[in-house]
Formats: sequence, C-alpha cells, structure tokens
Amino acid sequence: MAQIMDGKVVKAAVLEALKAQVAQLPEGGPKPGLAVVLVGEDPGSKIYVANKEKACLEIGYHSVVHRLPVTTSEAALLALVDELNGDPKIHGLLVQMPIPKGLDPHKVLLAIDPRKDVDGLHPMNLGLLVAGLPGLRSCTPAGVMAMLKHYQVPVAGKNAVVVGRSNMVGKPMAQMLLAENATVTICHSRTADLPAEVRRADILVAAIGKARFITADMVKPGAVVVDVGMNRLPDGKLCGDVDFAAVSEKARLITPVPGGVGLMTIAMLMKNTWEAFLSQTGRKPG
Ligand code: NAP
Repeated sequence: MAQIMDGKVVKAAVLEALKAQVAQLPEGGPKPGLAVVLVGEDPGSKIYVANKEKACLEIGYHSVVHRLPVTTSEAALLALVDELNGDPKIHGLLVQMPIPKGLDPHKVLLAIDPRKDVDGLHPMNLGLLVAGLPGLRSCTPAGVMAMLKHYQVPVAGKNAVVVGRSNMVGKPMAQMLLAENATVTICHSRTADLPAEVRRADILVAAIGKARFITADMVKPGAVVVDVGMNRLPDGKLCGDVDFAAVSEKARLITPVPGGVGLMTIAMLMKNTWEAFLSQTGRKPG
C-alpha cells in the first residue's frame, strides 16, 4: 500500500516558513503584495481567488483582489494590468484563468510584467526555465517538485513520465524534472502506446484532465505517482486523473485528490510572490 504524499502537510510547511520570513521584515516597511484580477462569475475561479486571498492574509502579505464584471472590455482589463504593473506595492500579479470569451488570454498574459508574473506562465519565465536561468516558475509543477523534495524522492537518473503537455502543467513539469536530471518522457493524446510509456515510469505525473485515466495496469510496481488532475464527477465530487484506489496498491508513494497537488499550487504562488518581492525591493538579484 502506497504512502500518501500529503499536500496539507507540505503546504503548511511552506506557508509557515514564509510567515516567519515576513515576520522578520522591518515594522512599517514594504510587505510582499499580491494582486489578483478576477473577471466574471466562474464559480471555481471565485473559490480559487478566495483561497489565494486567505493565504495572503494568513502569512501577512498585502493582498488586493479586483473583481470585474463579465462585460469588462479587453482594453479595460489591459489598462488595469498596466496599472498594477506600475504599482510599487504590488510585487505579484495574476489574472485568474479562464477569462470570459471575447478576451484573449495570451494578450493578457503577455501584458503582465514578467517580474510580477507569479503564476510563472509568461513566455519569458517559461523560456528562463528552459534555459536553466532564474525566473518565476509555474506554480503547479513547482508544487509537484516541492512535494517530491519533501518526501525525499530521488529524481536524478530516474525515468519520469509526464502525461499532458499544456503550457501550464505538462511542459514546465517536464522541464523541471529534466533540470533535476531525470530522463523525461512526455506523453499526450497522440502518443502511440501510452500504457507502455507510462509503465516505464519511476516517477509518473498525470496532468490530463480525465477522471481515473491512469489505471493500475499502467503503473510500475513501486512507482511514485503524482496526480495533478482535478475532475468534477457527476455527483459533484472531485477526482484525479489516477485510479487512486487501485494504483495505491501498486505505487510506493501517491498524491490524493483532493488534498494533494492542488494545495501546493497556492503554496508556490505565495513562494513566488516572496521571490518577486525580494528581487523588486533589491533584497535579491532579479
Ligand atoms: P489541458 O490544457 O487540457 O491539457 C491536457 C493534456 O492532456 C494535453 O496535453 C492532452 O494532449 C493530454 N491528453 C488529453 N487526453 C489524453 C489522452 N487520452 N491520452 C493522452 N494524453 C491526453 O489541461 P491542463 O491545464 O494541463 O490540466 C490538466 C489537469 O490538471 C486538469 O484536470 C486540470 O484541472 C488540472 N490542473 C490542476 C491544477 C492544480 O492546482 N492541481 C492546476 C492546473 C491544472 P494533447 O496536447 O495532445 O491534446
């Protein structure tokens, strides 16, 4: 039976460490500031944004949430991003995705100052990751790496298989595993023999968006299985991309959904905001 990699435990450790660092900042001086822009009424996004606000308050960050109506024009949204880019109290800035139809997410992402792009999704930051240079890293894959580190999973020389190749998860995930010297395979919807590729994984990361897609027969005994998927079942319950019950009989370590990677994403957002604060206030080179 696999050991659980508990997102709650790792998230708490990350937030505690950040809180302690914030507490050491000079009284009355600048605090790390995060601005979140939410356009429209997407129920999932509203919950995510509320959780981000809560995490900021918990660790002592300056937090601003701009809630804009679904009718907001692209020009108005870009003008707000521009204003926040220039606001010295704001060190991290994100526009909660998805944004309503009619607004171009790529245009919005490109408008964010890469130094404030705490989601780590700006092409500049993705490029810095590929080049092995310092920059803000995408939160979800960074959260996976933090979990592997916390549970002392050796990565160098291991076969890591990432299923999914999105810019948000799959591609940066593969790059982060490569940077830690894993031998990385990326699978996607056109992979010829997906079960055979997945079966070679010492470390498997599933970022597909299909409930229980990874079944036990695809998993090598003793593998480390990380489930990024967040799928809503017809009964309203949340479910990952991995058949948790069956796969946990075979894996050595496994993340649950909920309670796994999802919690780490917020923790890494707070960590990125801290890093952005340090570089923008001259406490660390940018
Ligand atoms: P996405 O943009 O839809 O990408 C899904 C990827 O899965 C694509 O690369 C796609 O391949 C691949 N895929 C789809 N069907 C497949 C199949 N039958 N066989 C092999 N590969 C297949 O999704 P995403 O944004 O990366 O998110 C993936 C999942 O993670 C979702 O459930 C999402 O909700 C979740 N997520 C969780 C967090 C978190 O904080 N835990 C954060 C972000 C996302 P192609 O490229 O060939 O189409």
